[in-house]
Amino acid sequence: MSRLAVVCGGSRGIGKAVSHLLAQRGCRVAVISRSKDAADATVASLHGDNHVAFSCDVSIEPEVQKTFETIQKTCGKMTYLVNAAGINRDSLLLRTKPEDMVSLLHTNLLGSMLTCRAALRSMLHVQGASIVNIGSVVGLKGNAGQCVYSACKAGLEGFTRSLAKEVASRSVRVNLLAPGFIHTDMTAALKEGDGGRYIPLGRFGTPEEVAQAALFLLESPYVTGQVLVVDGGLQLAM
Ligand code: NDP
Repeated sequence: MSRLAVVCGGSRGIGKAVSHLLAQRGCRVAVISRSKDAADATVASLHGDNHVAFSCDVSIEPEVQKTFETIQKTCGKMTYLVNAAGINRDSLLLRTKPEDMVSLLHTNLLGSMLTCRAALRSMLHVQGASIVNIGSVVGLKGNAGQCVYSACKAGLEGFTRSLAKEVASRSVRVNLLAPGFIHTDMTAALKEGDGGRYIPLGRFGTPEEVAQAALFLLESPYVTGQVLVVDGGLQLAM
């Protein structure tokens, strides 16, 4: 029987690349995003059939609960959960509106907590069950102009390590990926020429390169509670 993988934020960017790689590896993929059209389009582009798309805002608890219940009823138990839904609202703290702080916290931190909580019951005792949350190097190092975003990502690190301890006895593994600059819609406004100078590998990464690291964490049976940095060496220079 094929493994069921739920990818939140799977319609674009890193989550879409993860969805493609997991489908190529024989998983049945449930793609979640707020836009049903975008999730449908991603599902239509995946290798194989039987994949499913759901519209769900991960920051809204009743929507998350309902969506995960539907996934379990219609698709069965989940083996993998990847939390790649995220937003940015980059600005200096003094210029950041409180409503933007709330959106960032709700989507980037609370959202992953809610999806993990909703998925876990279905994942307990599933052989090879594994969760990957997507943090960021700025959660580890900080970055001017990203106080709230980096606080969410730092929070995800503590959440990931704690949850890994909570569920290890039930054979569920939980890890965090911390990407650097990756070419997606989120970084479309950034000029690679500026950032590339500070990245030891000299370029932004691709969503496919992050997906490879996500697959490694999902499939490594003796790795849990870890942070894997995928940043072309950026952290070394920060
Ligand atoms: P994109 O903007 O390309 O894609 C974001 C995805 O998340 C989309 O599928 C979007 O779909 C979905 N999404 C956003 N908000 C919600 C929500 N409330 N509920 C459900 N789905 C949502 O971003 P990236 O692929 O670049 O980022 C993916 C993750 O990686 C994020 O957590 C980001 O913070 C992190 N990251 C990205 C880096 C980069 O350089 N790109 C670097 C470090 C970390 P829709 O809008 O339809 O909901």
